[in-house]
Amino acid sequence: MSYQEIIQQLEFLRDIGIDAVGIPDARPAESISIPVAVSSPPSEIPIQITGETLEAIRTDIGDCQRCKLAPSRTHIVYGSGNPNAEIVFVGEAPGFEEDQQGLPFVGAAGQLLTKIIESIGVGREDVYICNILKCRPPNNRNPEPDEVLACSPFLKRQISAIRPKIVCCLGKFAAQTMLHSGDSITRLRGHFQDVDGMRVIATFHPAYLLRSPEKKREVWEDMKQIRAELFRLRS
Ligand code: URA
Repeated sequence: MSYQEIIQQLEFLRDIGIDAVGIPDARPAESISIPVAVSSPPSEIPIQITGETLEAIRTDIGDCQRCKLAPSRTHIVYGSGNPNAEIVFVGEAPGFEEDQQGLPFVGAAGQLLTKIIESIGVGREDVYICNILKCRPPNNRNPEPDEVLACSPFLKRQISAIRPKIVCCLGKFAAQTMLHSGDSITRLRGHFQDVDGMRVIATFHPAYLLRSPEKKREVWEDMKQIRAELFRLRS
């Protein structure tokens, strides 16, 4: 980790009120408190093992015209990161910067996401980052159901290609889509659920944290759970 990355990580921890840092806890899982999994309703489109590559799925998307977002987008924002990631972060939809660059989470929320990821000792390049929608909704409006219906099968195929240990949903839309639930993000965040053989957890969206920084403390709690679960699944 570079000097700059260490500073960023410490800044995030300072921002959320952590004034002392220990060495990441490598104790066996039984000494770490992990909430009991809650089973979720069955998925309409289950994540299946297909043997597809991320490149093949991107090729299938092509110059997508499957929903009404196509005419106003600049770039399709497919996803980026490690194709063998242990953790996949799923956001909502590209914003202005992402639409311009064709990459997920490169604006202000993305910079905070990088700090959040690094706060648990994982590099941004080690994880995979993508969104429910691959095209920017006009004026960053909320995703609409027909858009989620058209786009989310590609997300599920991407996740199936990566086969991560953990999926972390960022915000309400990602959480509701991945967890097949209409519950609020406040209810959905903070505990793991088993979905199609993966451990799925939701937390607040980094853009929400920029507006409500007092919620960073809860995100830190969620990230500690992710770190503990990763240790447990690796052991
Ligand atoms: N917000 C998201 O949900 N995704 C991005 O890629 C950027 C901002």
